[in-house]
Amino acid sequence: MSGSQSPCGGGNRRRFLQSAVATGASLAAGSSSRLVADEPKAAPVPYVTLGKTGEKVTKLGMGTSWALSPSFVTAAFAAGVRYVDTSESYENTVAEKVLGEVIEKTKMRKDLYLVSKNAGYRTAKGDSAKQVFEDHLNASLERLRTDYLDCYYIHGITGEQISMLRDPGVKAAFAALKASKKIRFCGLSCHDAMLPEVLEAVAEVGWLDQVMIKYNFREVGKKDRHDELQRAIDKCAKANIGLVAMKTQGGAINFPDKMAALEAKGFKKEVAAIKTVWQDDRMQVVVSEMTTRSDLRENIAASREELTPKEARLLEEHRLKTAHLYCHGCGHLCETAARGVPVATVLRYLRYYEAYGKRGEARALYQALPQISRELLATVDLSKVDAACPYGLPVASLLKTADQRLS
Ligand code: SF4
Repeated sequence: MSGSQSPCGGGNRRRFLQSAVATGASLAAGSSSRLVADEPKAAPVPYVTLGKTGEKVTKLGMGTSWALSPSFVTAAFAAGVRYVDTSESYENTVAEKVLGEVIEKTKMRKDLYLVSKNAGYRTAKGDSAKQVFEDHLNASLERLRTDYLDCYYIHGITGEQISMLRDPGVKAAFAALKASKKIRFCGLSCHDAMLPEVLEAVAEVGWLDQVMIKYNFREVGKKDRHDELQRAIDKCAKANIGLVAMKTQGGAINFPDKMAALEAKGFKKEVAAIKTVWQDDRMQVVVSEMTTRSDLRENIAASREELTPKEARLLEEHRLKTAHLYCHGCGHLCETAARGVPVATVLRYLRYYEAYGKRGEARALYQALPQISRELLATVDLSKVDAACPYGLPVASLLKTADQRLS
């Protein structure tokens, strides 16, 4: 990142990072967390209170849905990131194992706010729910080499599964895990088309402590088509649910052709996008999938800075130029015209494939969709679906592309 975008100053930041990385190397060699405490305090990651958990956590969290390396995790800890988000499903349990290795080696478990997720709950219901959640949790704890999680999530709940949140068996299962002290808090993650309805239910049922949701500059501060989402976030904020944002880039690595002119003006969209989410006072933590030291450096710097008027202006310019290219996940607007094809979900998997380079994961997710969804896609008349998208996406053609790439 060019020094012109940060008031922190390139020289200071370089020294900070050199120090952080050097400390990471020491940690990897097996030193204690004291080394992290000894880091220069000139550039800490700011802390926030996470809703009704009352916990002080770093406002920047580390996402781990990628091929994590122990050295990167160590460097992130050394640089001051203390909120860690993972799941049993990330890299098919490998992310938890890598984290466990580093947590044990650095002896930093107590310094972290550690979240993991249960992705195997689809059939959990009533009295059977307890066993499902407990078995998966025990396996996660073993991989993470710890005896408790700070928070345990229902991973990627969809609108169709909202009834789970009102199932006394599911509520009792989480209460039992809390009572056993294997988890301190409970929550869920969601990026489904019915996110507003899920958030409404979270606020209403009252037993979840925090949620992680897809939220980015295309929605922050926006009314019109995002009214429902904004109202639902308000309800969760009023209920003091901890709010964590993910997928904050809104298509960060899409549309490189649209970015060239803005970058020439000294604009770093990724940094502006993350700062924009923090501008929304209701969002306490941003979980970012940082995969390079440069991402780590830039996001830590961003966590200490306000969005500048220039960044806000250029990001809005980018939003307007790309709104017709980005699927906003509002499937309720187009899925009737698509006769039941889960458009928002399929286009999200296409984004994983094309923009994030997660080809294997995207294919696996697509192929795990109910058979009926994929058959529908191949046979249904999609001639009306383009007209149903208020953003003007070429939906039918994108769905065909998705089917070709992900089948
Ligand atoms: S295709 Fe359009 S209407 Fe459908 S989910 Fe995406 S943005 Fe919303």
